[in-house]
Amino acid sequence: MNIVIFLGPPASGKGTQAARFSEAHGFLHFDMGKALREEAAGSSPLAEEIRSYTNAGRLVPNEVVQRLIQLMFAANQERDIILDGFPRSMEQVELLERVMEEAGRNLTAAVLVNLPEDDIAERILNRRVCPQCGRVYNLVTMPPRSDEMCDDDGSVLEHRADDTEEVLNERLAVYSEQTQPIIDHYESAGLLTRVDGAADVDDVSRQIEKVVFGA
Ligand code: AMP
Repeated sequence: MNIVIFLGPPASGKGTQAARFSEAHGFLHFDMGKALREEAAGSSPLAEEIRSYTNAGRLVPNEVVQRLIQLMFAANQERDIILDGFPRSMEQVELLERVMEEAGRNLTAAVLVNLPEDDIAERILNRRVCPQCGRVYNLVTMPPRSDEMCDDDGSVLEHRADDTEEVLNERLAVYSEQTQPIIDHYESAGLLTRVDGAADVDDVSRQIEKVVFGA
């Protein structure tokens, strides 16, 4: 059973690639940002607390994240898993190591989807998400068939509350501060491979398949 971490800056395409990969190869796609947004959708004090972090582009506290990751591992003991958006700090790397040990599982690989900062900003501002099924579009490079409506279920696409220029700067700062040590950590463990996120979407998928399954 594999566990593969997808790393990359916001809008690098890692979420799209994780969704494609999990569909093609039967992996569970655990998207921490999405899990948090689902948890934050209600009106409980916890939901409100989560929103106060996600809407500001800051990382949600580890106690919340830990609960979600433990529940996910407990419910998916016999499945290959992609971790998308987790771990996002060195504390979360340690948290993941503890949770994997409890579950008797090991990390297969960490894939870093690279993208230059100029491309990130352009993609973020054009990103739209289906509120119903979670499918992600880009109005320029991956537009829906009809104007701002989901191809799969016809819902009106949304612009995420944190996909603005202002919040993006904070998210990029958090990314480089928190994620670089993670990259270094998996690189020195011999588990990290970089793929070129600016390449064509099918090409990126092929690069990732090569990392997980070999040439
Ligand atoms: P994403 O959908 O991956 O861009 O994440 C959106 C937001 O969810 C982030 O800006 C954080 O506020 C929160 N978030 C996502 N993943 C994590 C994580 N591993 N730890 C803490 N907060 C997270």
